[in-house]
Amino acid sequence: MIGERATSKAVQALDASLQEDLEALRSDGLFRPLRVLESAQGPEVVINGRPLVSLSSNNYLGLNTHPRLVGAAERAAVEWGAGTGAVRTIAGTQTLHEELERRLAQFKRTEAALTFQSGYTVNVGVLGSMLDKGDCVVSDKLNHASIIDGIRLTKADRILYEHVDVDDAERALSEARAKGYRRVLLVTDGVFSMDGDIAPLKDLVERAEKYDAAVMVDDAHATGVLGSNGRGTTDHFGLHGRVALNIGTLSKAVGVVGGYVCASQAVRDHLIHKARPFLFSSSHPPSVVAACIAAVDVLESGQELIDQLWANTRHFKEGLRSLGFDLGRSETPITPVMCGEAPVAMQLSDLLLKRGVFAQGIGFPTVPRGQARVRTIVTATHTREQLDRALEAFADAGAKLGLR
Ligand SMILES: *Cc1c(COP(=O)(O)O)cnc(C)c1O
Repeated sequence: MIGERATSKAVQALDASLQEDLEALRSDGLFRPLRVLESAQGPEVVINGRPLVSLSSNNYLGLNTHPRLVGAAERAAVEWGAGTGAVRTIAGTQTLHEELERRLAQFKRTEAALTFQSGYTVNVGVLGSMLDKGDCVVSDKLNHASIIDGIRLTKADRILYEHVDVDDAERALSEARAKGYRRVLLVTDGVFSMDGDIAPLKDLVERAEKYDAAVMVDDAHATGVLGSNGRGTTDHFGLHGRVALNIGTLSKAVGVVGGYVCASQAVRDHLIHKARPFLFSSSHPPSVVAACIAAVDVLESGQELIDQLWANTRHFKEGLRSLGFDLGRSETPITPVMCGEAPVAMQLSDLLLKRGVFAQGIGFPTVPRGQARVRTIVTATHTREQLDRALEAFADAGAKLGLR
């Protein structure tokens, strides 16, 4: 072990108690070593010295290695330094940070925007600071973990509704209104990350409006994927001006790291004063911010990469379907290959790896028991040859496991 040293009894006791918990994970087959990439995140990656077709990233458009983003990051680091050394509210806001926020607001067609360190922290910061005792949040049962954690931080009441069930959402909204809460906020993922289905946002907004409730949509998997130039589900459904809080991440299709909320100036001002991750954690390095601005430039400059993403998605999905796989509810590039029990998903993932394809198996608790899957995401930068190679691997491995 690296840096092994004599440790005190107290340190050893902590480790021993953690080992007990880890043993439980191992016996449930849930202990997973980290997979280490020996290459950039691309359509192919190198793991343990082997090149593999990667279907495991959220790098939808390949922007992480786009020359405009890399060039912008490089120039910004030279001109502005490697880090900011402060939180946004003290000395960590540079002209670059404000420029990115103006650009994001323009892109999402809102009055204002505010960036956070990640998509996770934006949800925790927004939900944790906007809702309080006397308020109520109405939330889809399958919303992302960062939304669930944000809700846990509020003293607001919460009512869950069945996944994408608009009538059940209305039941929750009317229940909330009847109780006389001050703020009622309906929260949904725009695209759900494990199933790849799209929230019925237009219907949800209409129902919410009936009960004077505001809507928050998390477009982590929709930005760069749906809507004109990848503006997300609000644009896809023509709902500009009717969604109070447009959440997004800079870590997926945008190709860098970070999160943001596009909303009114009032929301921005509120968050600057109240959102704890914004107040108590340092701001993005200039290279990150400059790369994100370059990503917005690329998105605004044309639709080609997004068209390529969808062409690849259609090709890959048709391939999997014609092989007889069950793709669940997917309507987007997120394509689960349903396997039933978790060990089957892990076996499929292992067989694919042997055949040169990197696609992770996912089981409980990330997805419900009995709905384990191998989750795939193709990107704009995969070649047809790579996708066809992946389909051949699925054909072989799926036949061995009786999945097709
Ligand atoms: C990935 C994801 C996040 C977290 O984004 P990060 O920038 O990786 O922290 C938040 N919400 C949803 C719906 C996501 O899929």
